[in-house]
Amino acid sequence: MELWFDEMHTPNVRLGFRIKRELEHVRSEYQDIHVFETYDYGNLLVIDGTVQTTERDEYIYHEMIVHVPMLTHPNPRRVLIIGGGDGGAAREALKHDPEEVHVVEIDEMVVKLSKKYFPGIARAYEDPRVNLHIGDGIEFVKNNGDFDVIIIDSTDPVGPAAGLFEEEFYRNLKNALRPGGVVAQQCGSPFYNPGEACKARSELQKVFKYARLYLAYIPTYPSGMWSFVIASDEVIKRRRDTKFSTRYYTDALYDSSMVLPKFVEESCKD
Ligand code: SAM
Repeated sequence: MELWFDEMHTPNVRLGFRIKRELEHVRSEYQDIHVFETYDYGNLLVIDGTVQTTERDEYIYHEMIVHVPMLTHPNPRRVLIIGGGDGGAAREALKHDPEEVHVVEIDEMVVKLSKKYFPGIARAYEDPRVNLHIGDGIEFVKNNGDFDVIIIDSTDPVGPAAGLFEEEFYRNLKNALRPGGVVAQQCGSPFYNPGEACKARSELQKVFKYARLYLAYIPTYPSGMWSFVIASDEVIKRRRDTKFSTRYYTDALYDSSMVLPKFVEESCKD
């Protein structure tokens, strides 16, 4: 008998992974978490029925959510990652040789399972510059600061992540940044959920001088087209060249990822 995991992208569209086996199924305090071993994508992390990470294509998401904001900053020393318990964003942030990387993940179970089943992603935790805090990122930014770059690598804006897309949170983010600080956040599929990216950008524009959307192409995320938003009080441009190895990100992509298809721009006018 064949085993499949299907993620529903709409009530009528789904993406299926043929799986070898279910490695884990845990109901944590916050979420329903599965880890599957797939045929084509290596191990797969699923939270509340939604694909979070696969071993095969995780580099695309993690490089783009990290290198774009990190290279916008001239010299990022202290980095905060909200969510991102798998460790992938921290792994990429370390390539910039920061002094400290802080990861604030609400669900300790995500960290535990990532260490066990995604060692290539979670290896960042072995680096002494990485500090893990188990807690709510919304509360954390009220009481901590002095960051150069803050990356919001969260689940979609439901459940514990809902408040991570609100103006009040963005104001607290700004207070948690040093002057010239940069913020980036994942904000969903512009094809299926154009409102999510547009709302994040317009809320951030209330708080920061500049906010721009950018895109990446991620095979296992709904529609394959994924959006991110970057915001700062400084002009958004690349201030450093890449001196480390990547598989998706290039310096040419920094600019091209911010060139939006017409339907994405138009959906923000509604
Ligand atoms: N890196 C992943 C990927 O490749 O798509 C992104 C998913 S990562 C596993 C998202 C994490 O955000 C989840 O582990 C979830 O527990 C966490 N999270 C959601 N809301 C949060 C909050 N308010 N504070 C901190 N972490 C939160």
